[in-house]
Amino acid sequence: MASRLLRGSLRLWGGRCAPCPPRSARCAHSGGEHRLETSSAKKLTDIGIRRIFSSDHDIFRESVRKFFQEEVVPHHTEWEKAGEVSRELWEKAGKQGLLGVNIAERHGGIGGDLYSAAVVWEEQAYSNCTGPGFSLHSDIVMPYIANYGTEEQIKNFIPRMTAGKCIGAIAMTEPGAGSDLQGVRTHAKKDGSDWILNGSKVFITNGWLSDVVIVVAVTNREARSPAHGISLFLVEDGMKGFIKGRKLHKMGMKAQYWSELFFEDVRLPASALLGEENKGFYYLMQELPQERLLIAEIAVSASEFMFEETRDYVKQRKAFGKTVAHIQLKTVQHKLAELKTHICVTRAFVDSCLQLHEMKRLDSASASMAKYWASELQNSVAYDCVQLHGGWGYMWEYPIAKAYVDARVQPIYGGTNEIMKELIARDIVRDK
Ligand SMILES: Cc1cc2nc3c(=O)[nH]c(=O)nc-3n(C[C@H](O)[C@H](O)[C@H](O)COP(=O)(O)OP(=O)(O)OC[C@H]3O[C@@H](n4cnc5c(N)ncnc54)[C@H](O)[C@@H]3O)c2cc1C
Repeated sequence: MASRLLRGSLRLWGGRCAPCPPRSARCAHSGGEHRLETSSAKKLTDIGIRRIFSSDHDIFRESVRKFFQEEVVPHHTEWEKAGEVSRELWEKAGKQGLLGVNIAERHGGIGGDLYSAAVVWEEQAYSNCTGPGFSLHSDIVMPYIANYGTEEQIKNFIPRMTAGKCIGAIAMTEPGAGSDLQGVRTHAKKDGSDWILNGSKVFITNGWLSDVVIVVAVTNREARSPAHGISLFLVEDGMKGFIKGRKLHKMGMKAQYWSELFFEDVRLPASALLGEENKGFYYLMQELPQERLLIAEIAVSASEFMFEETRDYVKQRKAFGKTVAHIQLKTVQHKLAELKTHICVTRAFVDSCLQLHEMKRLDSASASMAKYWASELQNSVAYDCVQLHGGWGYMWEYPIAKAYVDARVQPIYGGTNEIMKELIARDIVRDK
C-alpha cells in the first residue's frame, strides 16, 4: 500500500519522476522489525536498514542518493575552486523536492516527516560534498518562518524556498558575540512603524547567496535581561544598506560561501519582524535543539562514510605483500573494530534522538549531548581514517582528506561543544 501511495505522489524532476518523501501520517513502519540495524548491515551506508525508516524512505533515499551522485559530486571540485555552489543546483534540488522536506504542505513545504529530512542530511554526508547549504536552509531557517511567521511571511517565503528560488540564512554571530548570544550588538530601532537596523554579522552560512536572512537584533536595551530585548527580522537581499562582505578564507568546506553581513541604516517595514517583538531569544532556544540534532546526524553519517571509504582502501592497498587490511592484525583490524563500534553506538543514540524529535519529545540537553558526542566522534574517526590511508590520506584528491578538514568545524558551530557541556551540566545540577 505504501508504494501505491508513493506512486500517486510523484514529482517531476528534469522530465523524470522522483518520489516524494513519506508523510508522518502515512509512514507506516510495517516490517520495521525485519530491518537490520547499522551494526549488522553489510555497509554502514546501506539503503533499507534501521528501524526508524520504512520502505517509503528507502525509495526516497534512492532518488536522493542519485541526485547527489549525478548533480553534486561531478561538480564539487569546480565549486570548491569557485568557493560557492551554483544557484542552478538550488533550483534543481527544489524541483527534485529536496528542500523544505519537513515543512508542512499547507505552508508550501513538501510535507514529509522528519526522517525524510534526515535522509537528505545523510545522503549529502555520504556524498562527502559539504558545499550545498541545504540543511541549514530547509531545517534551520525555514522552520523559524513556518513556526513564527505571519500568513503573509509564510506565503511570501516558504513556497519560493521550497522551490530553491529563495535561499535562506540565519545571522546570529557577530565579530564580538558568538557563544554569548546575549552579547549581540546589532540593533533595530523603531521609526514610526518601520525599523532601522544597524550592525554586522560574521561566518554566515549561505550568507553570500542568501535572498533572505533571519537577523538577530537587540530591540530593547532596557529589558530586564538582554534575552528579553532581542527580536528576529527577515532581511532581504537588495534592501538599501544591506551589504554582503568579503569571502572568508577557511580551512575546509571550501564550496560553502560564508560571509560577513553589514547593516547600515537598513529600513525594514513592520512586516519584516518575525514573531513577536522581544521574543527572539525564546524562539532561538526553541529551535536550537533541531540545529544540534542536525549537526549530530551529519556527524555520524560523515563517520559512516569515512569508515566505508577506509574499509575499501585498506582492503585493496598492498604493503609487505599483503593488503593493509590483512597485516598488523592488532593495529589495522582492531582499529577498524573500534571505529565501527564507536560509530554504531553513536548511531543508536542519534536515531533515538531523531525518534524523540519526531514525537516532539527531544529535550535540549539530549540534543546537546548528541551534537557534542557525534561531532567529537566525527573528528576522531577522521583522524584515524586519514592515518589508515597513510600519506595518500593527506592528498586532496583522496576523499578522506576533504572529510578530515570538513569535520573540524562541527564541534564549533551550532554552539561550541564547550557550550553543549554547559547546557548538559546545567540540566544535571538543576533542581527539578
Ligand atoms: C563554518 C562556520 C559556519 C557558521 N555558520 C553560522 C551561521 O550560519 N550563522 C551564525 O549565526 N553563526 C554561524 N557560525 C558561527 C558559530 O556559531 C560560532 O563561531 C560559534 O558559536 C562560536 O562563537 P565564536 O566563534 O565567537 O567563539 P567564542 O564564543 O569566542 O569562543 C571561543 C572559545 O571559548 C569557548 N567559550 C566561550 N564561552 C564559553 C563558556 N561560557 N564556557 C566554556 N567555554 C566557552 C568556546 O567554546 C570556544 O572554544 C558559523 C561558524 C563557522 C566557523
